[in-house]
Amino acid sequence: TTVPAQYRRVLLKVSGEALMGSGSFGIEPAMVEMVARDIAEVAQAGIQVCLVIGGGNIFRGVAAAAKGMDRTQGDYAGMLATVINALMLQNALENVGVNTRVMSAIQMSAIAEPYIRRRAVRHMEKGRVVIFAAGTGNPFFTTDTAAALRANEMECDALFKGTQVDGVYSADPRRDPNATRYDSLTYMDVLAQDLNVMDAAAISLARENRLPIVVFNMHSEGAFPAVLRGEGRFTRIV
Ligand code: UDP
Repeated sequence: TTVPAQYRRVLLKVSGEALMGSGSFGIEPAMVEMVARDIAEVAQAGIQVCLVIGGGNIFRGVAAAAKGMDRTQGDYAGMLATVINALMLQNALENVGVNTRVMSAIQMSAIAEPYIRRRAVRHMEKGRVVIFAAGTGNPFFTTDTAAALRANEMECDALFKGTQVDGVYSADPRRDPNATRYDSLTYMDVLAQDLNVMDAAAISLARENRLPIVVFNMHSEGAFPAVLRGEGRFTRIV
């Protein structure tokens, strides 16, 4: 494996949906294993990696609120869903020989470490992959915002957002045949055109701290190592 010299430390945002594979709910083991192999390749090349994991494959607070559930209560359930995903991914990573720590924004001392910034940094310096669970720990936020927050706190060189499509489009390419893909965008483009990539809070946090965001398709084997080498198709937001 070639080490892409431009990256020392990166954050990968893995959405809950990325773990769903071909299903419509929950976790497909083959998918989690593939994601783990890709992360292992990058970590074993000497790049420090941390992860923020979503929960949308299990539970979303907004969706529950639309059906009458209290929003705050639903959001806490959503954050717990991210902890389930974190444990699954931790297991898959350890199976391929990667040392990991799960750090939760909501204390759950029997299964995860509490989130402590300096400790997270130390784990990465020792070559451990840190999985950040429970989002920001606050309702009304998303794991995208948690990803931008943690990437800034960890002083990552870039935030990689793994999605189901190979970048940011002018419209949903799965529905609109005329949708065009962007190679590069500014944070302001995303905000002003309300492009569907990450929520505005996440984009604003990245913009204030000049954190580059790279959006790519995580659905094929080797996609994460490839995008770190600058190969394949992706959209860079700077
Ligand atoms: N969530 C939250 N605060 C956070 C992060 C997540 O309340 O800081 C809740 C929210 O209900 C959200 C759910 O957790 O719907 C799952 O996270 P998200 O939708 O971001 O997951 P993804 O879309 O990445 O799978």
